[in-house]
Amino acid sequence: MRIGAVTNLLFFPKVNYRSNLQNYRLAPLGYDTFERTTFTGEKSPEDVNPSRKIFDSLPQDQLTCPCCGRVMIPPSEIETLRNSHAFNCSASEAIDILKKYENNMHSVEKEIYHMLKAEAKKDPDKTLKEILNKRKPQYELQLMQTQFGIFSLIEKASENIDEDKKEKIKELIENEKIKIENGNNEFRRKYFVKQFEKIFEDSDDTAVKEHLIRLAKQLPTAYDNKNAFIVKYASRSSEEIGVRLLSYSMRTIEHVKPKNKSGENHIFNYIPECMRCNSFRSDRPMIQQLEEYPEMFANSQNLMDTMIGFANKGKLSKWYIIKIQERIFEESDGVLKLDISELNMTPKMKKEYDKLTQREDKIVKEQEKLKKKTKKEIKKEKLKSVHIQKTKAKKSVEKKTKRK
Ligand SMILES: [Zn+2]
Repeated sequence: MRIGAVTNLLFFPKVNYRSNLQNYRLAPLGYDTFERTTFTGEKSPEDVNPSRKIFDSLPQDQLTCPCCGRVMIPPSEIETLRNSHAFNCSASEAIDILKKYENNMHSVEKEIYHMLKAEAKKDPDKTLKEILNKRKPQYELQLMQTQFGIFSLIEKASENIDEDKKEKIKELIENEKIKIENGNNEFRRKYFVKQFEKIFEDSDDTAVKEHLIRLAKQLPTAYDNKNAFIVKYASRSSEEIGVRLLSYSMRTIEHVKPKNKSGENHIFNYIPECMRCNSFRSDRPMIQQLEEYPEMFANSQNLMDTMIGFANKGKLSKWYIIKIQERIFEESDGVLKLDISELNMTPKMKKEYDKLTQREDKIVKEQEKLKKKTKKEIKKEKLKSVHIQKTKAKKSVEKKTKRK
């Protein structure tokens, strides 16, 4: 990956994005191309190529996920592995392929990789599927213990809710337990949580409801738990297992303003993001993603700094940096303000940027005002309630003295 990037830099011709949209060359599968491009023709934002393919031409080993911070795997590499049935081989050969991606992997995938590596040493001719199946009974038992443990917690926590709901929960859990004991891999957390939410649809007791749903969401899935991963994927082909260990680290395109909230298919609305973080955010507000992954503040700045470096060297559009910074600011409700002061801007860009910054500052100031106002209001409310309590206390004292 890294070597490809350097050699290709020297031999690829210039591509003019403005006049050459159709001739845009896709990265050859399995390699990381690094085309010499010029972005000097972009006098205004309208001149920028809106295509997501621009990310394919950047040095891939430097593109880190703005959310989890991992270096992302180029989609073309995973496609090549999939199309060439690369994992239709012995486990030891599969480990040789996976080795170079170890640092790209998320924690569950990395754990599985290490387990497979140790097993492949003992049984080099077994396939990935055979190894997972050999280890499955042990992990299945561990998974079941966790699942049944959470079910008991849910039942315990729902002891004091109304009978009707309690009965429904009991029934749901019994059904899910049967599914799990059958060992056909039929239990789905998503389904379970959905059914659970249905039971509480009309409930006013939000504290109990939230507590129970939080417990239900603790049930392990292949997404976040090694045991669940093994149990799920032991029934899949070795090819699928191998690709799955990498696919969640694949570079995807995140629509900063979600597509179904009228986010455009345009580079000014795109950031590269790994598949896991992208699917985890889904179409939720960015502020929620930040609440769950506070490291996103540092990781987004890190990616932005890398991209500013590319833009300053003419490998990426400078307008893109300005526009995406603004879009991220808007979508995060003014919470994620990325520093792009290192970008070498033309006077026209500087003017536009200053305009945006002034607007941003205004928004931040207005938000602060609002916060101060709410703080004042909270104080007022508190004083009011203290006053009420004091009067109540006074009255009760008066009553008592009267009685005496
Ligand atoms: Zn990520």
